Amino acid sequence: MTAPRSQNPSGRLWRRLLGGLLAACLLLLLAAALKQGALADLLRRPLKHQAGFAMHMIDVGQGQALLLTCGGQTAMVDTGPADTSRQVVNYLLKEGVRELDYLFVTHPHSDHSGGVNRVVETLGARVLLIPEYLSEEAALTTAGDWVGKTDTQIAVTRADDRYTLGDAVITVLHPEAGNGIDDMNDLSLVLLVEYAGRRLLITGDLTENVEPTLPEIGPVDVLQVAHHGSYTSSTKGFLEDVRPTYALISCGKNNEYGHPHNVVIARLEDVGARIYRTDEEGTLLVRIVEGQIAVTSEH
Ligand SMILES: [Zn+2]
Repeated sequence: MTAPRSQNPSGRLWRRLLGGLLAACLLLLLAAALKQGALADLLRRPLKHQAGFAMHMIDVGQGQALLLTCGGQTAMVDTGPADTSRQVVNYLLKEGVRELDYLFVTHPHSDHSGGVNRVVETLGARVLLIPEYLSEEAALTTAGDWVGKTDTQIAVTRADDRYTLGDAVITVLHPEAGNGIDDMNDLSLVLLVEYAGRRLLITGDLTENVEPTLPEIGPVDVLQVAHHGSYTSSTKGFLEDVRPTYALISCGKNNEYGHPHNVVIARLEDVGARIYRTDEEGTLLVRIVEGQIAVTSEH
């Protein structure tokens, strides 16, 4: 014979507590689902209606092209090679971009700068920003050849320069003026992008020669993995400083360099990064809306 319920007050109390706990869990799940739905809705809106900040890592095969948008302003960091420049321009148009506010070129290698000409001629850019190499004059001359007779202003940029893109701030961390570096990859602009308490780090093709000389950066939400995931970049010490939540790699399918190298994938996993690759997932999109960050891919 079982005891009547009224004679077991502690059992009743437990049942109530469990019931309350279950209801609280259901409410939390419902709130999370609604929030996720709102974020998904915001992700689908065209540029002119988009809230927050976005970084697109456009799939250009073996190379790199990034589009940054915030508050109706637009910037590109690299354009990818010449042979995918038509696709890049079409992508920008599809996203509602009509003119670029800034066009940064991390370094003058063709997999990053080959598309500059077409992007500038088709869409225009208010200002083209490049690192100093050989001399400021040499850098300006190279960039002048890219943009021809357009109205685009050309400027050399260097450590500590800052640019605003809507409510986002882009700070140049590297290289310094008069740097004396003769390796083009190591001249790569390093850009820290900050928006709503989130941090994104863009490193171009920077290598292990320079990583230890950078100022301490601290944890970032998103890292553009340097040099397409080459083993000569993304050292253990550097990754332990920046500890990215998301690591984005731009590289071509079955590229001849074997990028990204397995050792870099392992180093990224060691610091707990979630890895996204354009060769596997196509164009990647980072959105920050109301302080929330999400990474999605086209595949
Ligand atoms: Zn490259």
